[in-house]
Amino acid sequence: MASEMYFLILLGIFRILPRPTPKRHPVHTSPIPSDLQPPVARAIVREVGLRDGLQSIATVVSTAHKIEWLNAAYAAGQREIEVGSFVPARLLPQLADTAEVLAHAKTLPGLMASVLVPNFKGAERALDCGADLMVVPLSASHAHSLANLRKTPDEVVAEVARIRALRDSSGRCTLIEGGVGTAFGCTLQGEVAESEVLRLMQALLDAGADHVSLADTVGFADPASVARLFEKARALVGDRLACAHFHDTRGMGLANVYAAWQAGITRFDACLAGIGGCPHAPGASGNVTTEDLVFMLERMGVATGIDVAALLELRQRVAGWLAGETLHGTLWQAGLPQNAAPAALREAATA
Ligand SMILES: [Zn+2]
Repeated sequence: MASEMYFLILLGIFRILPRPTPKRHPVHTSPIPSDLQPPVARAIVREVGLRDGLQSIATVVSTAHKIEWLNAAYAAGQREIEVGSFVPARLLPQLADTAEVLAHAKTLPGLMASVLVPNFKGAERALDCGADLMVVPLSASHAHSLANLRKTPDEVVAEVARIRALRDSSGRCTLIEGGVGTAFGCTLQGEVAESEVLRLMQALLDAGADHVSLADTVGFADPASVARLFEKARALVGDRLACAHFHDTRGMGLANVYAAWQAGITRFDACLAGIGGCPHAPGASGNVTTEDLVFMLERMGVATGIDVAALLELRQRVAGWLAGETLHGTLWQAGLPQNAAPAALREAATA
């Protein structure tokens, strides 16, 4: 009887998870025989609050607090965290201790610790410090690229080729991610052509980036444009398009995540408490909120490996360090629903 019920539950999960299809998303394997095993959808939520979040607010969080944040995020189940940025301290004093924070991150087993590097010099430091991954930002908007990086997009592509050569000669295995920003438009330039985004994405891979990501730096994207661009991008480079980065500037962050998920993306950047923005893009505020995103994915039956209640506790602690700053997010206001299992499990139980 018990085994019969178990089988029915498995069937139920099968039935109510028509997507994501196994073809588009990785399927978790387990010791259960494959004919009885439901596909478990999984997604990775990469925390970028310690970089994208902290760089755009005035408060300088102490190294001790950053390490406390890292430890708590790790304990909550987060396994990919962007810990800072190798930029001159005079430009971003908030991130001046990136090397120290990274050194601590490297002591946490199984954590993929990434840093942002805006140029060759930053890449040298990332390699010296043994970062697992360095994200090299490229802005598809010419105007934003000149304002933010003082280089044209194609000059950034050339820099990535030099960074790749440096990585290869260093003997390090630090991965290189080309992050294509302003992929959906730009406050300074307005429209950014999809064809230009796709060209630059391919150019980054050709120059030696291991994978690429697409970012809506200033919150211009909507779910339809996300679906269109991510489907085209995946048709072009497949799984080498590894991450989506959305800002919630105009309230469409989670809807955009869902559209990217539908297009087959399984890794999303997010900031605890929705902090973040871009100092060179007026009006760009607030990344997708980590705790809201984890909650949404888990409710959809998508496993993240992250304990959302632990994230809510961490949010409260971080909010205490950021007194006077504007925080975002919704889940913390209502709290977790009582006695409510994720949709997939609820339907399976009544199937
Ligand atoms: Zn961002």
